[in-house]
Amino acid sequence: MNYNFFSPQQICFGWDRFQEVGPLATSLGKRALIIGGSRSLESNGVIEELKRLLLRSNIESEFVRTISNEPEVADVDQTTNLLHHLGAGAGDFLIGIGGGSGIDLAKACAAMITNWESDTVLDYLEGVGKGLQLKQAPLPLLAIPTTAGTGSEATKNAVISSYSPAFKKSLRADEMIPNLVLCDPKLACSVPPEITARTGMDAITQLLESYISCRAQPIPQALCLQGLKLALPALAEAVEDGSSRNARESMAHAALLSGIALANSGLGMAHGVAPALGIHCRISHGLACAVMLPATLKTNLSVRQKEYAEITRFIAPERSFTEAEAAQYLIEHIETLNDRINIPRNLSSLGVTQAQIPDLVASSRGNSMSGNPRELSDAELTQILEDLL
Ligand code: NAD
Repeated sequence: MNYNFFSPQQICFGWDRFQEVGPLATSLGKRALIIGGSRSLESNGVIEELKRLLLRSNIESEFVRTISNEPEVADVDQTTNLLHHLGAGAGDFLIGIGGGSGIDLAKACAAMITNWESDTVLDYLEGVGKGLQLKQAPLPLLAIPTTAGTGSEATKNAVISSYSPAFKKSLRADEMIPNLVLCDPKLACSVPPEITARTGMDAITQLLESYISCRAQPIPQALCLQGLKLALPALAEAVEDGSSRNARESMAHAALLSGIALANSGLGMAHGVAPALGIHCRISHGLACAVMLPATLKTNLSVRQKEYAEITRFIAPERSFTEAEAAQYLIEHIETLNDRINIPRNLSSLGVTQAQIPDLVASSRGNSMSGNPRELSDAELTQILEDLL
């Protein structure tokens, strides 16, 4: 056995622990620069409450900007410029609050503000621009997730989009893992059912893909089993009753575990194709993962039957199955869950056309696809996508 394991330095998890943000943040710096949020977090007073709680611990704060879309190159460059105008530097720390979009924007800016060799994040993204490396440590970062999905609060990358030219790539460095995570599941109670469903399926996809990845590791695998046992029964309840404490806690914890798992083990086909569906077809990340997950499980069944059966036996120990039956049960369980929470079974219902498939295949070859347990040729991936139309 031979592995490295990365995770945030400190994770504070619990219902209503948002109230503790002031004392927790004092170790990070004297001034907080807040990035992320969403219209609903602003309108329901969460951002004002954050500033008030920080001030109570003598931490000054500035709300730098909100973001309502998945972050693009220009969002990172403009926000980093705003931080420069605010004189961001020693003694300051960033707070990334929101879903994956808000946290990723904060993560990218925390890194860009201390690395100023180029004035655009483009030059640091994997496989595009000048291929510059981050040399300086980012500013300290506190991540406060408000959707239960991406696990970005525990990962070492920020996903950045561009529509022209079309790509979705990561800014990545081990030092980009947030220093402190404050995960209060209560914050997700305002997430509407449709977004709860999509972001929740992103977490479930991450847990499954990390477990079966060709870079799978023992600690993440243990976390994945725990996360799946929590998330699989909880997601439909969180969608149908957004105020359920039990369901929101289970989903927030599962999403956090999924982030730790993916940061160490990588992902697979669903997360390989999802950025392509985001860029070429404007499909949100969670929805793209959810639609791709059953096909991903079927595609990898021939090389991961044992692992699927391990998962089934962990989540449903009362049932007696052969290995093949247990593996099949997992696939059917995911399809049934998708149906229950209104995730479509095919891509054409999301507006994807045959003519887009060559671009989708070409744009699916990122870091996530390299974790898929089976290598997929362009012809095979084309066939998989055509079968999903
Ligand atoms: P998101 O952050 O875009 O949020 C979805 C919507 O929910 C937004 O409209 C947002 O404003 C709203 N929202 C957020 N919190 C809310 C709340 N508490 N109440 C009401 N509304 C709320 O969606 P996401 O799925 O969390 O993040 C997607 C992004 O994360 C994508 O760009 C994806 O590629 C990226 N991602 C990053 C990682 C990583 O490791 N860095 C991993 C997976 C995905």
